[in-house]
Amino acid sequence: MHPFKYIRTEDAASAIAKHTEAEKTQFIAGGTNLVDRIRRDVFHPDVLIDINKFPYHKIEEHQGGLRLGALVSNSDTADHKAVKKNYPIVSEAILLGATDQLRNKATNGGNLMQRTRCSYYMSPKFPCNKREPGSGCAAIHGHNRILSILGTSENCIASFPSDMCASLTALEAKVNIMDIDGSEIVIPIEEFHALPGDTPEIDNVLKPGQLITSIDLPASTKTFAKRSTYLKVRDRHSYAFALVSVAAAVTMEAGVITDARMAFGSIAPKPWRDKEAEKMFIGQAPSKALFKKIGEKVVENAKGYGGNSFKIELVPRVVTRAFSEITGLI
Ligand code: SF4
Repeated sequence: MHPFKYIRTEDAASAIAKHTEAEKTQFIAGGTNLVDRIRRDVFHPDVLIDINKFPYHKIEEHQGGLRLGALVSNSDTADHKAVKKNYPIVSEAILLGATDQLRNKATNGGNLMQRTRCSYYMSPKFPCNKREPGSGCAAIHGHNRILSILGTSENCIASFPSDMCASLTALEAKVNIMDIDGSEIVIPIEEFHALPGDTPEIDNVLKPGQLITSIDLPASTKTFAKRSTYLKVRDRHSYAFALVSVAAAVTMEAGVITDARMAFGSIAPKPWRDKEAEKMFIGQAPSKALFKKIGEKVVENAKGYGGNSFKIELVPRVVTRAFSEITGLI
């Protein structure tokens, strides 16, 4: 294992200053993804700054919505009374992810920071543009069952499987970040994760010295609490990444859909939202035919790579099932 220096501090500002001193300095909280990568010899940080003593451990009301501290565990977030009451889709999504043990350790900020998934990335003997830019991509003609059908590039087709992030995207959460000079930056979650393009090694827009402090759930999306679900299709019922998942939510009046959200996990390198497809719900009475058509719209520009091509057919089915459930058709 590559030796690294471990720093534990309560002083966020000085830690952030140190974060810029070395290119391979990393923050660590739960470490559920980071430690895996270090152990598998695919990531070699020089310095780890433990941020667990930083003051981001609360869930509190904020502007009528909720502010989720970056260091609150995924388990505590899923179990929080106000999350369950006003944003049940977040709670559901978290509880369908990983295992109890991982959710107890994993933090909200860390969930956003997890890397896209691909077994070749985790195996140093294979070429991987994400691990080693320019080396090639073993997955495009390899085993790619769980990988992306949308938002890919010729450099990388890895998928972003976070269930929590799909639900946050459907609710238009905002990510609060402390910049290197102590100032605050706010980024809509939809803009936080990056597509691979020509830089597959970059998974999100966070720069060295920037630290996630909290995530805001807006008051406006409490309206989805009554009719929402998180549907996750996977190869086995627990401790597996999704093949396709969707955070689905609607509001209805007099039998007609007045607002709708859907954000997918595991079909793209970031949580995937299609606003044009969402518009097709508005003013319509629910029907399975409508939902299938909307699902087909989502994948109209999708590209399969052999092992994952079945997802193109699966997406409309998942959309039909999820929206049929929340509109009372089934
Ligand atoms: Fe690496 Fe991305 Fe290709 Fe997987 S899909 S081997 S992560 S470049």
